[in-house]
Amino acid sequence: MTKVDTDIREEIERYQLDKKQQSELSDLLELCHSKLDETNDELVTKAFILCCKSHEGVKRASGEPYYLHPIEVAKIMADDFNIDDESVAAALLHDTVEDTSVTLNLIEELFNPTVRHLIDGVTKITGVFESRDSKQAETFMKLILSMAEDIRVVLIKFADRLHNMRTISHLPRQKQLKKATETMELYGPLAHRFGLFKIKNEFEDLCFKVIDPNSFKFIARKLKEKKEAREKFIGEFMEPIENELEGQKFKFEIKGRPKHIYSIYRKMQRQQKPFEEIYDLFAIRVILEDPHTKEDCWRVYSVITDWYTPIPKRFRDFISVPKANGYQSLHTTVITKQGRKVEVQIRTRKMDDIAEHGLAAHWKYKEGATGGSSELDKFVHWVRDVLDSPRPDAATEFVKDFQLNLYQDEIYVFTPNGELKTLPKGASCIDFAFEIHSEIGERAIAAKVNGKMVPLRQKLKIGDQVEIITGNKINLNADWMEDVVTHKAKARLRQFIKQKERKVADEGREVWEKRAAKGKVEASDQELTKLSKRFKFQNAQDMFYEIGAGAFDVNKLFEVVKEFKSKGRIDRPDQEFDDPSEDEIQEHYISTARAVGDGKALLVDGELTGVKYSYANCCNPIPGDDVVGFISRNGDVKIHRSNCKNAHHLIRTDSERIIDVTWAKNIDTHFLGAVKVIGEDRVGLVNDLTEVLAKSLKTNMKSINVSSEGGMFEGILTIYVSDLNHLENIINRLERVEGIKNVIRYE
Ligand code: MN
Repeated sequence: MTKVDTDIREEIERYQLDKKQQSELSDLLELCHSKLDETNDELVTKAFILCCKSHEGVKRASGEPYYLHPIEVAKIMADDFNIDDESVAAALLHDTVEDTSVTLNLIEELFNPTVRHLIDGVTKITGVFESRDSKQAETFMKLILSMAEDIRVVLIKFADRLHNMRTISHLPRQKQLKKATETMELYGPLAHRFGLFKIKNEFEDLCFKVIDPNSFKFIARKLKEKKEAREKFIGEFMEPIENELEGQKFKFEIKGRPKHIYSIYRKMQRQQKPFEEIYDLFAIRVILEDPHTKEDCWRVYSVITDWYTPIPKRFRDFISVPKANGYQSLHTTVITKQGRKVEVQIRTRKMDDIAEHGLAAHWKYKEGATGGSSELDKFVHWVRDVLDSPRPDAATEFVKDFQLNLYQDEIYVFTPNGELKTLPKGASCIDFAFEIHSEIGERAIAAKVNGKMVPLRQKLKIGDQVEIITGNKINLNADWMEDVVTHKAKARLRQFIKQKERKVADEGREVWEKRAAKGKVEASDQELTKLSKRFKFQNAQDMFYEIGAGAFDVNKLFEVVKEFKSKGRIDRPDQEFDDPSEDEIQEHYISTARAVGDGKALLVDGELTGVKYSYANCCNPIPGDDVVGFISRNGDVKIHRSNCKNAHHLIRTDSERIIDVTWAKNIDTHFLGAVKVIGEDRVGLVNDLTEVLAKSLKTNMKSINVSSEGGMFEGILTIYVSDLNHLENIINRLERVEGIKNVIRYE
């Protein structure tokens, strides 16, 4: 243990709680004892003291000491969710890491890894909730679930928001509105999906009060006015039933189920009815205390329907067939002698707990509910699966294993506007760009992830905020094929590669047509297809592609066409077009290379005699690059960079014609190279770039091509370089120019 930790331990031991804090602590401990299976008093007390100590002197908007907030959150954890003491401790400390000097390491030292894990989770999802502005609650929920590995993290966040909403009146109006809309849009639906109906209702009423205070006040006032009449009616309605149930020794509670204000409002809106008509639909709930069973619910049903006439159509048995979210209850609607309809719900205490607290209640009743199958969403399915499987573990073990390992195949990322996008796991910025729009994908030149420039091929993580920087022209790269996972991006790249190949083939066809015109022969497409097969090409297109790429000698084709045209047939065997001449060429050049070079590879230095060579203009190799030579059928060697796509194609299809080449030591020529520069646009940027090149690098520039858009600058500088070192120097220097974000070699 470090000295600092020892100090803090001592400080916590010495810390004196004041009177108010002491009574808060004993309230909280009492609540824990009554609501939780077991409570480690020491753990909760230590967390309580660290909470008071670390928020010491800080006040809330209301003027109250800040520590009261985490204490209230801890109380909600114990009272509403009643899960365990670790989540109570984490609730007490949920704001410490974010707002005070307390670190996660310290928390782990003082408490245990679980408490650390919970607080870390809350801090992280708070960031997501607070920094994003999203209306897609559904996707948002998935995001939260995939980020929060432990469901207790989400519950602490709910409790935190609930207390903040309860005390929202102290904030300025603007902030109130922002929080309320956010809560309505995100927390409400989330709470609903978790089956936390009581919390959801409270969220809705608290928000409604802020968003539409007049309607809220109107309904609240009406409810108050009607309260007496309502209670009287319920009393009269229930009296005979209560007597009968008591006579039969039932233990029960009756709730008049006052609907929450927002749901009354929504019904008024939806059904276009005045308050009275909505409100006068009475609903009464009979809750049977433990150890009553579901059979007892049926006995209560029979007592009620003995007294009042049921409407058969309105009977629902959610006990035998629970709702998807685990809800169980008997529903019936009966008519009083005065002709008033009353809805009656009958359920056990356990069923009521699950109806109110949803998922959280499942901890209390470990075996959970059994489910129907309609409208089951993935989440509830999964929860049910976990809950249904027989588990011998203790309750706490169960909670620990309760990992939210759902939605593992998807990640959720944000656009700059805070819009959520769902992508498959492993997606890159390129996938994201295509997801936004195919045009964005085509024109993407760089990406910013969480405000930082990154290469387009970078893989994305959950919660990343991604901005794509586009240029004016299409900027696709065949190599991206390896960096994309989405169908959209793959399809477009495949199309692009095809187009590119077609272009090379078109060039090859042109070469052929010129040669044919010069030699005064003509051949139809059909004939060319037929003849191409003698060179072992699949079709004429493939042959033209090779001609275009400089890999197949057009003269060979010419000879064959000429022979075919004059004789109407070809006498030579296929062999003659192929291997022998190949070997000869290979051998000849290799021997020449050995004579001149280092014995292993062909030296390229411009002084070689006997070997004609040229640089492939698809990849513009410069000294220092890894290169390969490709012996073409007309006898010269084309030098490609070994990472060139065309070279790869040739290696795949014609590996025997590849020859090792290497650069000679001293090369005096200059090579053309290009770099792409991306950065924030500013006045004088181009000047600074050319200055750096000319002055400090003594580099001549052939051309510069710039475009700028939306404050971003993209430039392609074509320069004369002596070798790779030189080019790398240039890249390094240009990267240091103010405002420049990314410099890459450009082909
Ligand atoms: Mn908080």
